[in-house]
Amino acid sequence: MIEAQHASTVAEAVARGELSGRLWLYSNYHCNLRCTYCLTESAPGVARRELQPEAMLAAAHEARSLGFTGLGVTGGEPFLVPEMPALLASLAEILPVVVLSNATLFYGRRLEALAPLASAPVHIQVSLDRADPDDNDEMRGPENFRRVVEAIPRLVERGIGVRISTTLADPGSVAPEELERLCELHRSLGVPDSDHVVRPVVRRGRAASADMGVAAAFDQLDPELTLTGDGAFWSPIGPTVRDGRLDTDMLLTRTTAPLATPAAALMDVLSNRRDGEDARLGIK
Ligand code: SF4
Repeated sequence: MIEAQHASTVAEAVARGELSGRLWLYSNYHCNLRCTYCLTESAPGVARRELQPEAMLAAAHEARSLGFTGLGVTGGEPFLVPEMPALLASLAEILPVVVLSNATLFYGRRLEALAPLASAPVHIQVSLDRADPDDNDEMRGPENFRRVVEAIPRLVERGIGVRISTTLADPGSVAPEELERLCELHRSLGVPDSDHVVRPVVRRGRAASADMGVAAAFDQLDPELTLTGDGAFWSPIGPTVRDGRLDTDMLLTRTTAPLATPAAALMDVLSNRRDGEDARLGIK
């Protein structure tokens, strides 16, 4: 009975547009890169904070029952988890998936392992920030631009859905001609405008240490239930890391299973949000 109540509550909130239909899963926190604005201070040697594949699958099944309509997988770099391609294929049999990636690992055996994702309801959202290689690599590291523009056509030609995510310290300060050059680039790589998102750097994690990006308070972020190995959060921008410690200002519950528990906590917060607390940033 309690589960049925949560199911109708989540499904209704999603249908009304009050709650994102996407459940986010932080698969891991380590990364082969060390970007200057990384919200999670990800890098090769950091604590991995992994969410186990079995837990992700169980959450996905329950998410569908509760009325969620999609899944997001993020990190760290999710494709450092060896099981990730097979796991994504399994998740996509439950709900459509978008997985965020730096796309620098898609060659050789790791590229071939993506075969199960061809034509599946999975989109890989690849980070590509600037049209100029030097500008891009200043924030993301040497050779990043080259690796990404080489990887994207490999994904497209294999029938794998690709979206491009552009993250800018100050989107308003970038000249329209430069953004147009970036759009020409992603179109030339086989990614249409409808699959390109531009978003600001958020002042959390390494970006906060570097005094960069827009501040994003709890009540400026859309509710998007997010699971990590450490607990459930209000938004995927919640479980960030500063000076090696996990931020808990947007922690909903330490409990992540059953999913109905953090879902109920999120719905409680949502229902108690006062009018006027919805000056949202609309970060995607
Ligand atoms: S921003 Fe993404 S690619 Fe860069 S270090 Fe962080 S997790 Fe890795």
